[in-house]
Amino acid sequence: MKHLLALYTILLLVLFALPISAQETAKPNKGEGVLQFLKRFNRTKPFHMDKFIELNQSKLDKNNNLKLGVTYTLPPVNNEGYEPLFGEQQAKYAIDSDELNGACFYLVSGHGGPDPGAIGELQGHPLHEDEYAYDIMLRLARNLLSKGAKVHIIIQDAKDGIRDDKFLAVSDRETCMGQPIPLNQIKRLQQRSDKINELFKKDKEPYRRALFIHLDSRSESKQIDVFFYHYESSTKGKHLAHTLQEVFNRKYDKHQPLRGFSGTVSPRDLYVIKQTHPVAVFVELGNIQNSRDQQRFLLKDNRQALANWMCEGLIEDYKSYSKK
Ligand SMILES: [Zn+2]
Repeated sequence: MKHLLALYTILLLVLFALPISAQETAKPNKGEGVLQFLKRFNRTKPFHMDKFIELNQSKLDKNNNLKLGVTYTLPPVNNEGYEPLFGEQQAKYAIDSDELNGACFYLVSGHGGPDPGAIGELQGHPLHEDEYAYDIMLRLARNLLSKGAKVHIIIQDAKDGIRDDKFLAVSDRETCMGQPIPLNQIKRLQQRSDKINELFKKDKEPYRRALFIHLDSRSESKQIDVFFYHYESSTKGKHLAHTLQEVFNRKYDKHQPLRGFSGTVSPRDLYVIKQTHPVAVFVELGNIQNSRDQQRFLLKDNRQALANWMCEGLIEDYKSYSKK
């Protein structure tokens, strides 16, 4: 009896464990191509095809054709991604479109590690530029991934995911993809540029863009909201900067018609956009030391909106190239 109970327990455990780990498999019919085979199992999206080839590479012939009698692993019906940097609540994300397939992004939030960037203050709370820029960058990364892009998160904080707080706790944990960030400004900028260039060499996507996100500004003027900078001789950088600006103009007109909006696009001789090999844009989303701008960063919905708008601009820019 004891043995039987133990056996049942094992059996139950196996049965419960199975659906979690088991991947669906199937054998092709005679004459069936990959597309037909996947269609038979309701997998008709481009990511199903990509995933299928990735999962079954060794079982396909050299032209990626199916072999009769071989059992193939089917890709999951819903494409889901996982990025622990987004934090426990947000780590899982659905890839719900493939409009950014073929696009690769290098996302950099300004400062980090021993350098907090600009420091504002509100109601006794310190507002560090690097923490707010990081949160917006993560939100943007998640948006881009959900649309099928490849994303490299260059500045990382192993503990801070996407946060909804108004006052983001400060830390100096940020790294440049695992490497400690040096305090020296030139070394710090060189480190992130080198990292991007190293990845850029291996990436094969036809469209690759680097984005540097800051929440400070050297301007004293209260009239100007957002600055988009590109490298002087980069026409593609200029194009992206203008596309982003147009989206921001449109959004501000719609959501804050009374306030108006002015963003400027200009070339600027900045180390990071000069040194990085992918086309790059440097954006200053406002100034965290400016009391009016602080509102833009304090509310999670506003940080999400900024990420959404940048995502929209990046999609538009990408599409304008893929059409040609
Ligand atoms: Zn900055």
